[in-house]
Amino acid sequence: MRRLGTPAGFTGELIHPGDTGYDHARRLWNGAIDRHPALIARCASPDDAAAVLAHALEMGAPVTVRGGGHNVCGWALADGGVAIDFSLLRRVEIQAQGPRARVQPGALWGDFDAATQPWGLGAPAGIVTHTGLAGLTLGGGFGWLSRRFGLVSDNLVAADLVLASGERVRASQQDHPDLFWAIRGGGANFGVVTEFEFGLHATGTQVLAGPIFHAAGRAREVLRFYRDFIDGAPDELSVYVSLRTAPDLDWVPAELRGTPVVALLPFYTGDLDEGERLLRPLRSFGPPAADLIQRKPYTAHQALLDATVPHGWGYYWKSHYLPPLTDAAIDTLADHAWRKSSAASYTLVFHLGGQIARLPADHSAATGRDANHALVINAAWPEGGPGHPDIGWCRDTFRAMEPHATGAVYVNFVHNDEGEARVRAAYGQRYQRLADLKALYDPRNVFRNNQNIPPASAKCQGQPDGEHP
Ligand SMILES: Cc1cc2nc3c(=O)[nH]c(=O)nc-3n(C[C@H](O)[C@H](O)[C@H](O)COP(=O)(O)OP(=O)(O)OC[C@H]3O[C@@H](n4cnc5c(N)ncnc54)[C@H](O)[C@@H]3O)c2cc1C
Repeated sequence: MRRLGTPAGFTGELIHPGDTGYDHARRLWNGAIDRHPALIARCASPDDAAAVLAHALEMGAPVTVRGGGHNVCGWALADGGVAIDFSLLRRVEIQAQGPRARVQPGALWGDFDAATQPWGLGAPAGIVTHTGLAGLTLGGGFGWLSRRFGLVSDNLVAADLVLASGERVRASQQDHPDLFWAIRGGGANFGVVTEFEFGLHATGTQVLAGPIFHAAGRAREVLRFYRDFIDGAPDELSVYVSLRTAPDLDWVPAELRGTPVVALLPFYTGDLDEGERLLRPLRSFGPPAADLIQRKPYTAHQALLDATVPHGWGYYWKSHYLPPLTDAAIDTLADHAWRKSSAASYTLVFHLGGQIARLPADHSAATGRDANHALVINAAWPEGGPGHPDIGWCRDTFRAMEPHATGAVYVNFVHNDEGEARVRAAYGQRYQRLADLKALYDPRNVFRNNQNIPPASAKCQGQPDGEHP
């Protein structure tokens, strides 16, 4: 591989193939992916990001951007590419006015919660603390607080970017509003974000949450009860469902570990006495094999699932948005969920709606406002490396659920083997506007290591792949 040299004025850390630390630096969350970039540039400032981008373009090398490195497709790195790596930039600064959080682009959700919660503040976040804030926000994003406060990207008030041209801009409702519309859901297609600014809410620090386990044999009746229970739920309540093998973790009752279970995952934020009252029917249904609901710190709940999806395992995902669960959808889920061979593989049903659904579909490029659920079917294998029989299970389950889905998908859960048609399906009506804005902000498709939206003009000029020549 050719050596790409040093970007002018760069002050961070450069890691080339053969350097000590190269193999560590190119590790991604998904251990099924093994990419060999020509240069990993760990930036120490926004100026560094601009310098690396200019250098990569001058050298004609593909450009990638690494936030948390969690995307299942491994977009953060490309073979022979230059990685603008933000892992040294993780500061989260709280401003009383607003209140707001100014966040550097390498922050993980654990960093965000650690900075905001001591003030009793919060905002919708990913449900695993070691996920990157950048990629999740740019794809739209949802988590436990989203039914109350909207998508993660709905809470973004501004972002600073380096554009493909090298120009530095701020995007907000006032500055480049079209760009601001696009980056809230349009993924990484429009530039390199060097700072995010979020609006914060007085969430408090305590929540009522925790899993309720039922034996998998009762999946159909549990899911039917669940469907009816969440119908008309207040925004303060979200209930996710995981169909899986109970993991071998401390917080799981010993007698359940390794057994097939339905885990209901209620989360209540607000007046916890009211939450106790609301959750009573869900807790008494069955009765469950175990009820671990308790009042606890929000940060503790945020970390609950961390060890179920650690770095380095192999992963392969597919996903659908779902309308309210029908009996047929429930039967299909229950039929397929436990056909997997790896204990680590699982099916997760996110609960959407609430404030997400209250904003108009064209509020931003983000998707999912009309969906009741996001379904992710996750093949996971602890030994890592490429390939596993559960990839077939994941694809089969995905196909079986197709008739029960909305036809759209959350862009951050799309796999890179699904093609442009799936990215179009993800954005639906918003796709053309995104392609037009891409033509304006990145006409040569410099930022294409992502769920790519080729620039509309490239298509007009007969370059169907929209790739930078
Ligand atoms: C364990 C796990 C849990 C998850 N939970 C949730 C969840 O609760 N809710 C949810 O909505 N999603 C969730 N996701 C999906 C998540 O949103 C995506 O994986 C997302 O891409 C992760 O962002 P990242 O910064 O870690 O990823 P990376 O792989 O670093 O980047 C992802 C994409 O964003 C681009 N990018 C990163 N940083 C920047 C930047 N500063 N400027 C421009 N482009 C950038 C990259 O080029 C790449 O295309 C989860 C993923 C995992 C693996």
